[in-house]
Amino acid sequence: MEKFANTRLPAFLKSVTLALLIGALLIVSAQAQVDQNRVRAHMEFLASDEMQGRGSGTIYEKLAGMYLASQMREFGIEPAGDKDGKALGAYIQTVAIDRKTLGKTTLTLGGETEGKALTPLRVANSAITGKFQRISITETAEKGSIALVRTEDGTIKREQFGNLIGSPANAVIVIAPPALMKQMSGFARRGSSITSIRGVESSGGFASLYLIAEADAESLESVTNGSDVAINSEVADSSTSYTWNAVGKIKGNGDDSEAILLSAHMDHVGVRENAPGDDKIFNGADDDASGCVAVLELARIIAAGEKPRRTIYFAFFGSEERGGFGSRFFVNTLEIPLEKLVANLQFEMIGRPDPKVGPDELWLTGYKRSDLGSELAKTGAKIVADPHPEENFFQRSDNITLARRGVVAHTVSSFGLHKDYHQASDEIETIDFEYMTKSISSMVKPVRWLADTTWKPSWNEGMKP
Ligand SMILES: [Zn+2]
Repeated sequence: MEKFANTRLPAFLKSVTLALLIGALLIVSAQAQVDQNRVRAHMEFLASDEMQGRGSGTIYEKLAGMYLASQMREFGIEPAGDKDGKALGAYIQTVAIDRKTLGKTTLTLGGETEGKALTPLRVANSAITGKFQRISITETAEKGSIALVRTEDGTIKREQFGNLIGSPANAVIVIAPPALMKQMSGFARRGSSITSIRGVESSGGFASLYLIAEADAESLESVTNGSDVAINSEVADSSTSYTWNAVGKIKGNGDDSEAILLSAHMDHVGVRENAPGDDKIFNGADDDASGCVAVLELARIIAAGEKPRRTIYFAFFGSEERGGFGSRFFVNTLEIPLEKLVANLQFEMIGRPDPKVGPDELWLTGYKRSDLGSELAKTGAKIVADPHPEENFFQRSDNITLARRGVVAHTVSSFGLHKDYHQASDEIETIDFEYMTKSISSMVKPVRWLADTTWKPSWNEGMKP
């Protein structure tokens, strides 16, 4: 530089400019990176003993939701929870779960007061009406009927059970000899209640199923097909419990109002006094504090960047561990038509690498069911097919709730079937923070791409659940 002494000042200015530019780039890249300390901080809070294992529908689940909501507020993400929610509560969706315990259940003909006793096995509604139809178990009932079904040999085979519940009838009543009555008694006890989510059409999508004793069925011989019949169950007891979701969104600037959903479940199984050993708290560090933190870090980075083309919903679901009540409420009360929600990625158990795949890889449940996984891989996602297809993980997280409603929905995970699954030992100490940080980082670009592209994922032929 000495050689060009006369240009020393401009050169100095150049280097200052260069330094400023590098500095600015560093700030930008610092903002745009998944941060291991942040990952650790969120995990240490969510999976702490003080959070009591975030039991489904407990105040600890809601507290996790408030924490996640508080973070979303800090990132400048809009609340998308209860419309009348105030402050952080605006991110919270309150889900009421009504449970009715059924008493005496009877089948009555038009105008009749005394009915025939039925044993409920699986019930969608406490009052059901329909046209009487007599069929054999190999025949399909008519839509809207109440079908009286005769078995071939006094038993219900496993696949027949599925067919009965999936039938287009409103209800199916199987004629049961004493042996079948006895065999199904355990099932009957479990089936004697109806659980519904308030504000969600309780169609359930299945035909109610009952047994009738052989002797009572004989007295129905004279009833003609097509007669009006009704099934009524007394409600012996009813109760309401609650669960919560935490939901935020970044509104997209695209003109087709499409959206994507990034989700995880914030609940775990709580405290179990009957667990072996001294530790009764099921911390759920990997399941699914890790997934929540992945969604949170993606939310922070996306919120710090330019507006996406598609709206992005960030949802932390409650009561996944008890039947997906949170996600069911979410999908049924979404403010946009479901066909506008083009994809869902649920994040589950990404806190430890899976030895069955590459050391820096994640896997996608139901990979071959749609073109989403392969397309994300093309944009740099280190995503491969689920190496444990026998575990049916595609059906075992909140993504299935959305998938059944048509949304292309999968779960991203690296669960290597470790022994701490659903144990008190699913603790923060077992988390590989370096791996976890890297794996979340690997999803930043692909998720951003999915939010900005006009490409739309679709189910492969015959693979939609
Ligand atoms: Zn889980």
